[in-house]
Amino acid sequence: MDIDKTLAYLTADEKLRMLSGDGMWHTFGVGELPRVRMSDGPNGLRMTEGATTSAVPATCYPTPSMLANSWDLALLYSIGSAIGKEATAMGVNLLLAPGLNIKRNPLGGRNFEYFSEDPYLSGELGKAFVSGVQATGVGACIKHFAANNQEDKRMYSDSVIDERALRELYLKPFEIAAEAEPAAVMCAYNKVNGEYCSQNEYLLKKVLRDDWGYKGVTVSDWGAVRDRVAALNAGLDLEMPDSYGLFEDDLRSAVENGEISAETIDESLRRILELTDNVYLEPYGDFDADGHDRLSYNAAAASIVLLKNENGFLPLTKAVKVAVCGALAENSPIQGGGSSHVTALKTYSPLDAFARRSIEIEYYRGYSDNPKESERLRYEALDGASDCDAVIVYAGVAAPSEGIDRKDLDLPSEQNELINALTSAGHRVVVVLTCPGPVRMPWINRVRAVLYSGLNGQNGASATVDVLYGRVNPRGKLAETFPLDTNGIDADFGGYRTLYRESLFVGYRRYDAAEQRVLFPFGHGLSFSVITYDAMRIKRIGNEYDVDVTLTNTSARDAYEIVQIYVSDRTGRVMCPKKQLAGFGKIFIEGKTTTTATIRIDKRAFRFFDAQNGKFAVADGEYKIIVAASATDIKSESSIHVDGDFFGKNEFPDSYRSPKLGTITDEDFEAVLGYPIPPETPRPQKGEYTLDSCINDIKKTLVGRIAARTAVRRAKERGMSDGTAREAIIESALNTPLSAVCSMSDGAMSPNAARGIVDMANGKFFKGLKSIIKK
Ligand code: BGC
Repeated sequence: MDIDKTLAYLTADEKLRMLSGDGMWHTFGVGELPRVRMSDGPNGLRMTEGATTSAVPATCYPTPSMLANSWDLALLYSIGSAIGKEATAMGVNLLLAPGLNIKRNPLGGRNFEYFSEDPYLSGELGKAFVSGVQATGVGACIKHFAANNQEDKRMYSDSVIDERALRELYLKPFEIAAEAEPAAVMCAYNKVNGEYCSQNEYLLKKVLRDDWGYKGVTVSDWGAVRDRVAALNAGLDLEMPDSYGLFEDDLRSAVENGEISAETIDESLRRILELTDNVYLEPYGDFDADGHDRLSYNAAAASIVLLKNENGFLPLTKAVKVAVCGALAENSPIQGGGSSHVTALKTYSPLDAFARRSIEIEYYRGYSDNPKESERLRYEALDGASDCDAVIVYAGVAAPSEGIDRKDLDLPSEQNELINALTSAGHRVVVVLTCPGPVRMPWINRVRAVLYSGLNGQNGASATVDVLYGRVNPRGKLAETFPLDTNGIDADFGGYRTLYRESLFVGYRRYDAAEQRVLFPFGHGLSFSVITYDAMRIKRIGNEYDVDVTLTNTSARDAYEIVQIYVSDRTGRVMCPKKQLAGFGKIFIEGKTTTTATIRIDKRAFRFFDAQNGKFAVADGEYKIIVAASATDIKSESSIHVDGDFFGKNEFPDSYRSPKLGTITDEDFEAVLGYPIPPETPRPQKGEYTLDSCINDIKKTLVGRIAARTAVRRAKERGMSDGTAREAIIESALNTPLSAVCSMSDGAMSPNAARGIVDMANGKFFKGLKSIIKK
């Protein structure tokens, strides 16, 4: 495409039109200009026509929360490229993945779509995925930029974060993945430090363009634009989806009165045209569905984590008489709900998986959500399994969904009761967990083994059976901490204004600093083999370091070991987490052999963000290099001197030395933030409503009540049988700004109707009515 010529022949109105999408999934193409087709895809391609229509069948891979446990960059690359091939075959040009948000709180409703609590691991996995996608010619879109760590009130919440934590934790995965030059960056729904991400100049210009030199397109999350003029000026190129003329008048008058310059429009449009030129392709070729099916199996096998295995209870052999208990064995979730939900090419249950491997088991349902029935099922299981040598219990929670946070870390009580009853009766119990992330395990000391099988895609059930029976030697390690419970986590969470008071102390950084016990640490995962570590050797290569680690597999079985390298600041002049992940390697070790692996420490490992001077710096002095099998299983340590460029002090208040529940006061947080905690903005009242208000805001008015009833009825009509998904849809419908309802409803609510509702809710009934019936 000759972009200069194209820019020259487009009229002013056409240019403005092209800054917004065409329908749900396309860019707008004037005349003969091609339209870029987008689809979601963190765990497989979700190619759908409308906003809510179901997707064309595609391979369903493990969710990112599982894939991250593989710590396997080659695997992430392969999955990215396999999804890219499916996208090519279906004519999708831009894949709306991967999601790179940090798991700040284990209750985060979309954690299943994200990789890790650690920014380095998230960034590296994301970068590999992006490279894989883009090797097929399809563009990748990293999201949600930035600090989108809660689902409740996600369209309004303001993430108040100090700049160090923002740069070192929440932006870092994006910074790393941006090195693979993803075609697009999607802004998040929420505000960061008082400004919506869709119009946040600090994020979209200062960080992304000036500091990182990013050249691709910035695109809004679906319906995230509140003020198109401010967004364009702040650096948001493309509004998605089509907002059906909602901002047309605003844009025109901003052009007329000089609020938006012709250069700003051309700059954004140029990037959209470059994207079109780079990624547009008609549907092309086919994909190898069998090959992708095998890849999804391999990915699941690499992602399962063996959390506990007392006295080598697993693997089982076919000679062992086994009972399988738990209704989830009939139908366990393989993925989450919302925009990432794939119509899987195939699915089968855990019970089918045993049958496929010709493993004979006895099955007892064991629980149900009806307490009376559950009691009967529990007794049936106890009775039936009495002559079995092992009992495998499938436990977990309902599939999570975008739009709603988890309420707690508990398994349904009937599942805990079943496990307790079985262990009390002397059964040797293995628990298989099919859940989106950490759960509480009150029975942990009484069971023999626990396997975290998570949301593991279309072949997760078979891979799990293969680990149980030793066909696969488990190799996954947790990419997030499993805490004992949420009692120790004082993260402000779920509000309209969310204070990231804990600053850098998220995940293992927090548990380390607070010396708090966890259920299973970050980086933990067992193997059927025994691997021993020998002392490390460190080599300096320019500004980087290579760490040699020698590993011995003392058992006959081949194994993989995920080796982690952490760095610990010993200069004592900069407040830092006790250790931070700086490198990792997944090493294959043949049975009864020794191997030496070399792991490169990331060049950014020693830097911190010097907020006072607005730049990254390296404190000159001593650092510890730690080789570990998990965040709490340290194998060896060694000190090095790093020549830095920072010789001053960068302190935090004392409470950050051991950030225990409730110890960080407002005053301390303000010291870190550098300014007073901003007050919470009150929700609008009658007379103050705007298109930024949601149905929940106006629900006390007559029109609000009608809108709320309609929204709930519509959500129910969508036939969602699953409780979490239904609740998520209702929550989203009630808490979405009316401006976003226009764009997200496939045109069902026109801008005039939305304006009319606002007028009516403000008490201007006839003005509103006139607007609603206006064409
Ligand atoms: C989600 C995005 C997604 C988009 C399009 C939004 O609700 O937050 O992750 O890409 O919808 O489906």
